Amino acid sequence: MERYNHLNNYLKNKFGERTLKICIDGGFSCPNRDGSKGIGGCIFCSEKGSGEHINYANNISIQVKNYFASYKSKRANKFIAYFQNFTNTYDTIENLKLKYDSALIDDRIVGLSIATRPDCINEDIVKLIHSYSKKYYVCVELGLQSSNENTGIFINRCYSNKDFSNAVFLLNKYNIDVVTHIIVGLPNETLEDIKNTVNFINLHNIQGIKIHSCYIVKNTKLEKLYQESKYTPLTLDEYLNSCLYVLTHINPNIVIHRISGDAPKDLLIAPSWNLHKKWIINGIDKLMKEKNLFQGMYY
Ligand code: SF4
Repeated sequence: MERYNHLNNYLKNKFGERTLKICIDGGFSCPNRDGSKGIGGCIFCSEKGSGEHINYANNISIQVKNYFASYKSKRANKFIAYFQNFTNTYDTIENLKLKYDSALIDDRIVGLSIATRPDCINEDIVKLIHSYSKKYYVCVELGLQSSNENTGIFINRCYSNKDFSNAVFLLNKYNIDVVTHIIVGLPNETLEDIKNTVNFINLHNIQGIKIHSCYIVKNTKLEKLYQESKYTPLTLDEYLNSCLYVLTHINPNIVIHRISGDAPKDLLIAPSWNLHKKWIINGIDKLMKEKNLFQGMYY
């Protein structure tokens, strides 16, 4: 029995078969790194803009070709081009089109998914993304992390909740699916903050959520805080309980894209349980079963 809406099942129902994502590095930067919004980036963000596992190659089409060349399994025939790291709408409209087009080069690609910051969405960009919806499933992933503006300042995200709401409304206007990222276990946050973040998200028309666990990677400001004993990551049990809160209180219609962070093994400082995705997924399954919990039952 499915106790929450799993992404894999959603994609299978939508496309009639198993559908996988191709993670692409579009060669973007981020306004929170180049000084136009902030310097140094969000305190948890790694040097590669949270895209360590992407097989980087300068040319986007080559990345896609490399992916298909190395995909030997016959289990999937449909794929979504996923622009993952840094801010994938942070460029001119012309360049954005060139970059998105250079990923859509194979008939097996049925979707385009774009991760970005809410303050890097405007109507022209949304119109461009919408133009792909004639042929592809399109989706935009928006960072939020927390609805606590003080946390937003502390983690140096350099956008506001209002930016997030504006971006969601604009994407809703053009019927583009929105997936929101939140992070559980951010510095100074309690379960109260998680509750507020869930309430805030539930006020918006979003179609999916990615729940990340807060983890510390090398050469980040979060690492410095950790080394100075100014930040303690959650234990696995604490994380599972917070994650359960999110799952049971979030809108039951939205799709759960992930319930853990994807910590790069060679860069992870703490917590070590973050490397064991199965502990998180199985832990949630076990608790939901034991307590007979379902997604959105307290929505
Ligand atoms: S907005 Fe994203 S890419 Fe930019 S610094 Fe923050 S986490 Fe990194």
